[in-house]
This record gives sequence, C-alpha cells and structure tokens, in this order.
Amino acid sequence: MVEKIVIVGGGTAGWMTAAYLRKAFTDRISITLVESGKVGTIGVGEATFSDIRHFFEFLDLPETEWMPACNATYKLAVRFQNWREPGHHFYHPFEQLRSVDGFPLTDWWLQSGHSDRFDKDCFVMASLCDAERSPRYLDGGLLDGPFREGTEEPVGLTMSEHQGKTQFPYAYHFEAALLAKFLTGYAKDRGVRHVVDDVLEVPQDERGWISGVRTAEHGVLEGDLFIDCTGFRGLLLNQALGEPFISYQDTLPNDSAVALQVPLDMRARGIRPCTTATAQDNGWIWTIPLFGRIGTGYVYARDYCEPEEAERTLRAFVGPEAAGVEANHIRMRIGRSRNSWVRNCVAIGLSSGFVEPLESTGIFFIHHAIERLVKHFPGNDWNPAQRELYNEAVGHVMDGVREFLVLHYVSAARENTQYWKDTKTRKIPDGLAERLERWRVQLPDSETIYPYYHGLPPYSYMCVLLGMGGIKLTPSPALRLADDTAAHKEFEQIRDKAKCLVETLPSQYEYFAATRS
Ligand code: FAD
Repeated sequence: MVEKIVIVGGGTAGWMTAAYLRKAFTDRISITLVESGKVGTIGVGEATFSDIRHFFEFLDLPETEWMPACNATYKLAVRFQNWREPGHHFYHPFEQLRSVDGFPLTDWWLQSGHSDRFDKDCFVMASLCDAERSPRYLDGGLLDGPFREGTEEPVGLTMSEHQGKTQFPYAYHFEAALLAKFLTGYAKDRGVRHVVDDVLEVPQDERGWISGVRTAEHGVLEGDLFIDCTGFRGLLLNQALGEPFISYQDTLPNDSAVALQVPLDMRARGIRPCTTATAQDNGWIWTIPLFGRIGTGYVYARDYCEPEEAERTLRAFVGPEAAGVEANHIRMRIGRSRNSWVRNCVAIGLSSGFVEPLESTGIFFIHHAIERLVKHFPGNDWNPAQRELYNEAVGHVMDGVREFLVLHYVSAARENTQYWKDTKTRKIPDGLAERLERWRVQLPDSETIYPYYHGLPPYSYMCVLLGMGGIKLTPSPALRLADDTAAHKEFEQIRDKAKCLVETLPSQYEYFAATRS
C-alpha cells in the first residue's frame, strides 16, 4: 500500500501534484515535496486550457481567492496572427460549435458564409476577443450562453469525461511563479512537508525500484511512490531509471525559446482576453496578457535561427518597453518519455513530455496526468495493468496533441521563408496524412480525428483548418441542395448575440480594475 509519496521538483508540476493529491487523499498518505534551492523552475507556462477550472474546483478554490494572488486574467481563445498572411488573424475559441440539420455550422459557412471571417460567423467569442471583453459582468455574473454556471455543467467528472458534454467559455492566464507560490501555501497548510534541498542520488533496491532520494542536507527521503517533477532533466525517470525519451523533433522542429516578462501599463494598453500566437520568419511569438505585465516569447528552431537573432526579433516585436528586461533562453526537449510511469516512479510535467506551447497544453498535460494517477492509483499488489492503462492514456494525449500541432504548420498558408516552406514537405506523424485527405472532403468530426482522448474536440481541428488557409476545403455536396434558411438564422443569432454581449460586457481591463480594488 502506498503510504508515503515523495515529489521531487517544486515547479508548476510539483506543486499542482502535491496540492491535488493532498486534497484527494487527505492525511491517509504522507506527502513530501523536495525542491532545489539552486536549480530554478522553467519560469514560463502561463496560459491554460479551459479544463483547468476543474483543477481549481477540485481544490475548492474560488476565482476570487487565487486569481488576484496570481495576477490572473481570462482567456477566451487563442488568436493566430499572420499565419496565413500579414495582417490576417483568426481565433480558436473555447466555444462549442453549433450544428444545423446534422451539419456543423462551419460546413454551412463553407457553402454560403456570411463574411470572410468563419470565426466571427460561427462563434460569439471571436467578437468578444476583438472587442477585448471580459466573460463576466462587473457583478461577477457569467455571460449567458450554452454554458451557464451551475445548470448544464455536470460536476465531479474528470476532464476526459467532460469532453463533448460541455465547453466552459474561458481558461486563465496567470503568473507561473505566483501560482507555484500560492499552491505551496495551499499544500503546506494542509500538511505537505516541504524540503528545500538538492537531490544528489536516487538509490534503487535489487528490483530496480526507487528506495529513496539522497539529498545534500536532509539525508535519504524514503517513500513508496516517487513523482519526478524535475522538468526537462527527468532526474528520476530518465536519468536514474533510464527510461528512453521519444523525440517529436522530426515532425515538430522548434527546439528553443527566448522569453521576456514585460511590465506594461495595462490601463493604456488594455488586456486582450486571449493568448496571441504571432507567426514569425522562423517560428512564432506568444503574448500572454496578465494583470500588470505581459509574458512573451519567441519559439523557434535552431536549425533556422540563432538565439541572438531570436532575442533581437522578440525585443523589436515588443518595442521600447522590452529595454532592460532580462531574457530567459530555454532549450526545449520536444517529445515524451516512452513510459511516464516505470516501477514506482511517475513523471509529471516536463519530465514526462512536452510539445511547443502553441495551444497551451503543458499545464493540461500535468492536470490530465494527475487525474489519471488518482484514477489508476496503485494498490497493495501494484498491479501492472494500472500502470499500463496510465501510460497508454498519457501517451495518447501527447501523441494526439503532437498531431494537432503539426496540423497548424501543414495547413498554414504562410510560405515566405525556408522555415515555412519546409513545413509543407517535412515528415508528418503516421495517420495524419490519411486524415488530411478525408478532411479535404469532409470537415473533421469525432470519427476522423485522432482516435484517443487528447483534450481537443473536432471543432478545434475545424478552426485550424479554416483559419490557416493553406488547405482547400469543400462543403458537403448535400448542402448545395439543402435549404439553408435555418443555418442563416443561426448565423444571424450569433451576430446579434455577439453584438449584444460586446455592448453590455465590460472590457477585461475594466473588469479586473474594478473587481480587484
Ligand atoms: P520546472 O519548472 O523546470 O521545475 C523543475 C523543478 O525541479 C524545480 O523546482 C527544480 O528546483 C527541481 N529540481 C531539478 N533538479 C533537482 C534536484 N536535483 N533536486 C531537487 N530539485 C530539483 N504550459 C502551458 O500550459 N502553457 C503555456 O503557455 C506554456 N508555455 C511554455 C513555454 C515554454 C517556452 C516552455 C518551455 C514551456 C511552456 N509550458 C507551457 C510548459 C510549462 O511551463 C510546464 O509544463 C510547467 O511549467 C511545468 O514545469 P515543471 O514543473 O515540469 O518543471
């Protein structure tokens, strides 16, 4: 029986895991988290998926408690800028797609769209993002729609159980360091032991199971289950247990990033309620608006761009406010550990795997892994079937997201540099080529996307294909013959609804300025 858990690493992964497991198992299991005082955390990872709200709900943490402590803001979508051509943008929103007469609205849009903006015609959220609205009114009420709080949302389900049932209308941006600090307090207040020390060695017993972690000043920390949250190092899983790492770099070549945290006058600038991914000559730049600063960074491939050039590009993109701000250069390990759970060691976070942050999936991977660990928690016999189920689920999530990210590059019309030209000829993951052929004649649905749970519903694929503009799509032939009155009515309803919400909701800046004071 697992009685003692040792978590190594105190970044987002370590503290999310400690807080969640403590809440799940209370004091029936003892939890120790050891983190180095010398090795820092990655210092990025500030945009999320909308499923993250289940994490905070599970911890019984209302937004009013944790959001101000983490300078958090709302995120309604990812905004893709210049992926098709300079000046073009579209949104991938958190909003379920409507259907009319058995066909998704995007199909009707292809047949007889109202405007050249599929995202504004088919989703309310695109207009709210353009107008920088908050999804909540000043009294805290949530915008209405098919996601009204407390009514249609089933509670107590895991992320994968939620998928397809509902789509909550927003995710969050937050300061990663502040979130780790907040969760440290949460976990310690509830009895998690916190040790600041360096793990120097990982002793194993005769079966190769980890028996403890030897620290510089606190001796050996013993446990039954060890959670490796040591980031790209993979100190326990990859280094000590020798579990191989499967690289995705042949299909996703971006292996580096340079990041800046830039304080800005948000009152003058406003707070866009979305993460922006702006295409560049050799990659793309993320912009994450927080309350008081932006987090921004250039994700690029060293095969095409040197770090100095990337930093120059990023500073020029940000403008004079970036002067004097220290740059954080990061080498990224893209791919996943073959198995994230080996013997009595489970890797969660960057040690388990990572793909570039184009759709903000790092923290989603962590949350998913923790939920799965609880679901497949080992009993007395450490039944290997639990481990296999866990490893399959974690592997599928990462492989599925890899495919989704590759689709962004394959389908982007942009081809102005060698970097972008190569995105059209590079190897793509097995299965995607066949799926692409199908999507040319029929927009993605649950039967034609990556077949295992990976957090992304079919409408996400439609957004990317319709927005990136590089792949010719055709509406279903049946729609040429069908009566489109109901579809046009739906387009009108979306337009009216968006107009009404833009007029009545406060801006995201107004909302946070008023509710934080
Ligand atoms: P780290 O933050 O690297 O923490 C590692 C921990 O291990 C540290 O506490 C360190 O002290 C400890 N440690 C290491 N060695 C030892 C030792 N010997 N002894 C004791 N302790 C040790 N995710 C998102 O969801 N959204 C995003 O927008 C996003 N953007 C990203 C941008 C970039 C460029 C990168 C690289 C990642 C991004 N991610 C994003 C992923 C996200 O940052 C990570 O998933 C998240 O921060 C978790 O990191 P971690 O805790 O696994 O590792």
